[in-house]
Amino acid sequence: MSGPAVFKFGGTSLGDGERTGRVARIVAGAGSPPVVVVSAPAGMTEALVALATGRSQDDGASLVDAARRIAAEVGGEDLADLIERMVAERVVAFRSSGGAGSSPAARDALLSLGEDVSTAIVHHALVDAGVDAARVDARNLIRTDDRFGAGEPDPAAIRRAAEERLLPMAAEGRVAVVQGFVGATSDGRTTTLGRGGSDLTATLLGAALESSAVHIWTDVDGILTGDPRWVARPLSLDVVGFEEAVELAWFGAKVLHAGAAKHAVAHRLPVRIRSTFAPERPGTLVLAERWGGPDIAAVACKRSVALIQVRSRPTAIEYGFLAGVFGTLAEHRTPVDLVATSHTSTAFTIDEGAEIGALAEALDHVAEVDVRRGLSTVTVVGRGLLREPGFAARVFQTVAFTPVHLISQATDSSLSFLVDDEEAEALVRRLHLVLIEGRAGRDASAHGARGAG
Ligand code: ADP
Ligand code: ASP
Ligand code: MG
Repeated sequence: MSGPAVFKFGGTSLGDGERTGRVARIVAGAGSPPVVVVSAPAGMTEALVALATGRSQDDGASLVDAARRIAAEVGGEDLADLIERMVAERVVAFRSSGGAGSSPAARDALLSLGEDVSTAIVHHALVDAGVDAARVDARNLIRTDDRFGAGEPDPAAIRRAAEERLLPMAAEGRVAVVQGFVGATSDGRTTTLGRGGSDLTATLLGAALESSAVHIWTDVDGILTGDPRWVARPLSLDVVGFEEAVELAWFGAKVLHAGAAKHAVAHRLPVRIRSTFAPERPGTLVLAERWGGPDIAAVACKRSVALIQVRSRPTAIEYGFLAGVFGTLAEHRTPVDLVATSHTSTAFTIDEGAEIGALAEALDHVAEVDVRRGLSTVTVVGRGLLREPGFAARVFQTVAFTPVHLISQATDSSLSFLVDDEEAEALVRRLHLVLIEGRAGRDASAHGARGAG
């Protein structure tokens, strides 16, 4: 028998009283009680990061105001006062631990505030809607190592804790409300899982409980063929395969966290992406097995990427070159997106936010290094792309007038182009128009896509 479903609500579903009311109605209307995972209200983690890094000079007053407003809309003045105290106390504790100069552990304690606030608010809204609900602190469920800011989850410990704390609640018909994004070390210090990490909390708990399904509730009608902020007429995909989902997440489709998609693949956990604002629609089902194709799923874009070009020195021994480069990346724990390589040089992309200076300095020992910033990757994702007749011709014709810094294709489920940031939006639109809208016009139903509404 499978365990309770996990419902994860993103910040976009929690920004005000009206939205929180929708969340409560969705949970109240679920057939059997789900485990509810919530993100911080939209914008709150961003504001906390600004405070934690000293980018914001705010004394915390605007954070208090924003949290108070939502709490007052959901539960009136008593809840608002409670939330206000919670925010103020945490900001004061962060200041007294050294403020922007304080330890990564103190920063995580501050960043977890957004999810602590929203679980308190959602719990209140659920009880108000007549749901038998109780809060379960994620610190007692999501065990991680002590890499603050990017805690590595311990699935065995999470499974034990979930079985012990969540299964009995499910058996009694109670809804557990858990913070996404938040975890703790074995000695109880708060950690966070990295930005967008609430999706990962949902799939970690889903796997631990052997859930029937994980539902990621957000502000769009599933995985779309393009980012709706850029593409005028994106289609919603009925079904995507895990490989497509992982590639899309990794290459910028923010709707699903890449780590969450990978974790779901590993545990064959069905994931459904759905809209809190149109709960009657089925959204997108992400399935472990999805054969067939060829089929183009979507066009994704990842901003703020840096290109590192590394040329081996003429005297270097060639067979150690790539090992030297990638060994250095591993030592610096820097994930790589795209890679292209020749006999004497290699080029790869990493996040602009990575510690590029230190990495370039380390690589300088093995090779000559060039760094270029301000770039974006634009990626076409699908299945069996190279088997699709005319696919390459259509893509390259569409990209023809855009200066490209690097092209990369490792499997036949994605083809990526590295372009200047200012070229990215137009290229995404053109590729979507030619590859997806053009084809949908010819035969929408044959490709399992429908209008995003
Ligand atoms: P949440 O707060 O629910 O976690 P996110 O902001 O993390 O929401 O993700 C949802 C957003 O992802 C959407 O509002 C949309 O703007 C963006 N997005 C980017 N690419 C895609 C895509 N291919 N399909 C759906 N949404 C996308
Ligand atoms: N609140 C966290 C963030 O903004 C986690 C999440 O929303 O998934 O990154
Ligand atoms: Mg998200």
